Amino acid sequence: MEKRNLIIDVARCENCHNCSLATKDEHIGNTFPGYAASQPLHGHDWIHIKRRVRGEGVMVDAAYLPTMCNHCDNAPCIAASGGDGSVYKRDDGIVIVDPEKARGRRDLVDSCPYGAMWWNEELEVPQIWIFDAHLLDQGWDQPRCQQSCPTGAITMWTGPDDAMARKKEEEQLQVLSPELDSRPRVYYRNLHRFDKEFIGGTVTAVVDGVEDCVAGARVTLSRGGAVLAETETDLFGNFKFDGLEGGGSSFEVDVDVAGRDSLQRSVTLEQGSRYLGVMTLADCVAQA
Ligand code: SF4
Repeated sequence: MEKRNLIIDVARCENCHNCSLATKDEHIGNTFPGYAASQPLHGHDWIHIKRRVRGEGVMVDAAYLPTMCNHCDNAPCIAASGGDGSVYKRDDGIVIVDPEKARGRRDLVDSCPYGAMWWNEELEVPQIWIFDAHLLDQGWDQPRCQQSCPTGAITMWTGPDDAMARKKEEEQLQVLSPELDSRPRVYYRNLHRFDKEFIGGTVTAVVDGVEDCVAGARVTLSRGGAVLAETETDLFGNFKFDGLEGGGSSFEVDVDVAGRDSLQRSVTLEQGSRYLGVMTLADCVAQA
């Protein structure tokens, strides 16, 4: 059975909001019987983009995370609906909040652990991003959020569940809050840009009294004596280890320049990502 899934690349999202605006354009003032009542002019973000800034000093990055209804296979909202048809899952995996049967069911909004269901005060109906099911049913090959994204950050993927499971494994895709066991159909690539930390730094050396960037220095990240990752400094002497767990994790960083000089730093990730600043190899000799 072909099922709908959405794959979002966090590294490609540039916060232009075209996806959320296209969704508003589709739904504000438009009623699609059996799919969705019209979206109110203000107050709803069926596609909501979250922002996170990491780092400090000269090493800072920002990540943008488009979020929406995850069209969960084990959906808490469907469980909360009590099986009365107010919220149901289609054969293609899309979850629909019936705009008639769900009227007055404000309680359903609180049942979504992702905050992806919105309450329409005027029409007294809970609402979600419907995966543009009304358009797909007319033969569209992509939802408007994909069509409007200029960076290709959003892609609908259609196929059987076992193929999607393989794709998830092979491409290291992740879902939001997997511990909820809600089994989302929205997958993320490069989610570490939003929910993990980095350690970075800049390596310089003083050669003949002049301080300059060191390119190609070998930098090793380890914990408890076990090497976790290795990299080299770039032309500006910068290095970065990404995708690290925060929450008080401790690491050791070793910098080595062609076996001639080295230095070590210990770092604990307590409050977000860390830039270790300029690490200067004072007694480094000139390279051939
Ligand atoms: Fe329901 Fe929320 Fe899951 Fe969407 S994300 S299916 S509204 S529980």
